[in-house]
Amino acid sequence: MKGVVFSNVLIYFLLCNLAFAKECVNLFPNKAELASSTMRAKLSSINDEAWKKEMLSSYQLRSPANEGPEASKFQAAEEKFDNTMLRNTNATGDFKLPGDFLKEVSLHDVRLLPNSMHWRAQQTNLEYLVMLDVDRLVWSFRKTAGLPTPGAPYGGWEDQKMELRGHFLGHYLSATAMAWASTRNETVKQKMDAVMSVLSECQKKIGTGYLSAFPSEFFDRLENLVYVWAPYYTIHKIMAGLLDQYTLANNGQALNITIWMADYFNTRVQNLIARSSLERHYQTLNDESGGMNDVLYKLYGITKDPKHLKLAELFDKPCFLGLLAVKADNIAGLHANTHIPLVCGVQNRYELTGDEQSMAMGTFFMDIINSSHSYATGGTSHQEFWTDPKRIATALSAETEESCTTYNMLKVSRYLFKWTKQVTYADYYERALTNGVLGIQRGTEPGVMIYMLPLSPGSSKAKSYHGWGDAFDSFWCCYGTGIESFAKLGDSIYFEQEGKGPGVYIIQYISSTFDWKAGQIVIHQNVDPVVSWDQNLRMALTFTSNKGPGVSSVLNLRIPFWANPNGGKATLNKDNLQIPSPGNFLSVTRAWSPDEKLFIQLPINLRTEAIKDDRPQYASLQAIFYGPYLLAGYSQHDHEIKTGPVKSLSEWITPIPASYNAGLVTFSQKSGNSSLVLMKNQSVTIEPWPAAGTGGDANATFRLIGNDQRPINFTTVKNVISKQVMFEPFDFPGKLLMQQGNNDSLVIANNPGNSVFQVNAGLDGKPDTVSLESVSRKGCFVFSDVNLKAGTALKLNCQQPDDGFKQAASFVMQKGISQYHPISFLAKGSNRNYLLAPLLSFRDESYSVYFNITN
Ligand SMILES: [Zn+2]
Repeated sequence: MKGVVFSNVLIYFLLCNLAFAKECVNLFPNKAELASSTMRAKLSSINDEAWKKEMLSSYQLRSPANEGPEASKFQAAEEKFDNTMLRNTNATGDFKLPGDFLKEVSLHDVRLLPNSMHWRAQQTNLEYLVMLDVDRLVWSFRKTAGLPTPGAPYGGWEDQKMELRGHFLGHYLSATAMAWASTRNETVKQKMDAVMSVLSECQKKIGTGYLSAFPSEFFDRLENLVYVWAPYYTIHKIMAGLLDQYTLANNGQALNITIWMADYFNTRVQNLIARSSLERHYQTLNDESGGMNDVLYKLYGITKDPKHLKLAELFDKPCFLGLLAVKADNIAGLHANTHIPLVCGVQNRYELTGDEQSMAMGTFFMDIINSSHSYATGGTSHQEFWTDPKRIATALSAETEESCTTYNMLKVSRYLFKWTKQVTYADYYERALTNGVLGIQRGTEPGVMIYMLPLSPGSSKAKSYHGWGDAFDSFWCCYGTGIESFAKLGDSIYFEQEGKGPGVYIIQYISSTFDWKAGQIVIHQNVDPVVSWDQNLRMALTFTSNKGPGVSSVLNLRIPFWANPNGGKATLNKDNLQIPSPGNFLSVTRAWSPDEKLFIQLPINLRTEAIKDDRPQYASLQAIFYGPYLLAGYSQHDHEIKTGPVKSLSEWITPIPASYNAGLVTFSQKSGNSSLVLMKNQSVTIEPWPAAGTGGDANATFRLIGNDQRPINFTTVKNVISKQVMFEPFDFPGKLLMQQGNNDSLVIANNPGNSVFQVNAGLDGKPDTVSLESVSRKGCFVFSDVNLKAGTALKLNCQQPDDGFKQAASFVMQKGISQYHPISFLAKGSNRNYLLAPLLSFRDESYSVYFNITN
């Protein structure tokens, strides 16, 4: 966490919005907002003891069945859950998944290719994993075990004061195992092996099976209902990381450590039940427990030890899962990321036990999130909590959509796809990955990620309670899931169909290779980068043989819902293939050989999607998509688009041609040793050189338009001298740089008459400068100040040229410091226009995602 400056505004919003939080998870009946991780981090780190005491005075982990108007509903759900679910599987045998279920593909067999943004994201993450220091990561584990502690602990949520410390190391074990499988990076391997050997040492030193970065007394507090910050959450991350080390990196020691930990917690839970009650154990689950059920089911899947199954079931939180069992969309007020991992747990349970109700719960959950609780990004949660169904329009803010919930929703949808092969789940996966995951890294800066993805009008990823994190001082929950997300981008591109007619389902169009052992081939998927000016997705599959002649097998290509049903093209070698309608698979059976090539071209639709809100006054609030890409408009606050009478989207949304990049320019002047740039904010001023991605770079970039409205290219100063041009702000298409008269400031407006300037050779006589002379006021030039300093407003000045004037009216003209994203569109409205680009490409720039679109 960046400092501990506390936002009263945030408290206010949390208090207003979450007063209805349910007993099921209400750790603080009178201060529901304290159940958010953001607030609990605050509680963990604050030095203000009086404030902490006051907050904690309302802490309670109580039984949902005991009181409150909601109690009977929860009680009924809980009973149904206990009676039908737990009892059904107490005596389970070995369940085999039906043969037509899809099998996941190992990360070891998939490689991303460098022409994809997914590969770049993977590389950025890899750099971060390698930057982290083992001694610092394990510091608190050694401390807890009583071992020497070289180095110093990291900051943020890994700080010594933070009760959640150690959670990130669990994610690190998972992420490094995934990154190792995906890239075979040796440094990552050395780091994860070093961590593993320290953890083994720590567990042995403690000697009970317990292993964590905090003492086991935290669990005493939990069981005695004394406030503590989510100790099982961290245990889940550690155990999950260990199992990933076992399954992906073949580390047998990791499995032994996990089993010993499971023994410890089994004894602990049984003792609590014997000493107190089962009810008391369930009360402890009202604190965030991550996916304890999930990791224990996973362990059971490996060991087949009934003790592990039984323990996993004890972490199936009845008051929440019961709601899903009785198909009640009653999740409003619940902390989202406390509960989504539980759904993954029961989905895993279905795969292991065949319990159909577990399957139905996952399906129902996905249905309600998809229909009523998700944003256009596929993400869910507002200020970490769910709101009322179909009330998303009033759940937009800077604290919208916690990133780690999206990571977990991907897991939920992935299970459903494996079981059903329904394109809709693969579509969801693509939506959430593209719009809710890929853009949470700040460009290619390792270790800079966000917690919340803001979605209110005029949002910025840099401006939420947390903003962008720091590589060594954040370690939020979303950092943990972030490093995993970017380490497993090779996942869920391919799924395998085993059995008599073996096959592969290709559900993501991401340039990659898949070494398909069963099919005896390597599949090479090459996707052309998607651009706005050519509205097609093109993908070619080629094959190399892999130790065999290649068996007859079927390849199934997803035809996404966003594909235009008309105009698609598919060929197998030279033969045309019929493309099925969107929502289906193109299936081709063949003994694939190196001579063959399967090509597909899918026209990409532009579309709008209404926000999930059934109140008529919000019907016009819509998001704009280009295929899978959610487009955001550069905007400080506006989100109104008046289209006028139009018949189709293409009348008001048009692609920005690639050639427009050639007309982008930036103007600067020297002040001492530093360069200042001409920038448009509220006014037009001269400002310090902006860093990339801060939004200042967009404000300092203008597009050249000729007097005849045609685009003008800029290659050298020489080729624009004597031309009459207008300057359109990069991020505010349709507006122009305009003069208002002698000695008046320049403004951004749309009056072409006063916006035409003649580009003259710089009055200062230097070869790389220009001077901009007003065409309607001859002899008047754009002028900064003789005493140049940042913040100076630019004016038109008609005074007689002297040396100071010449200097202040001469600007270095160079190629624009911002460039259009290849997927950029112009959205035209009668009130204003917007430059649209994929949300994933934004860094600090302000944007609007939902527009109020009216005619
Ligand atoms: Zn999070």
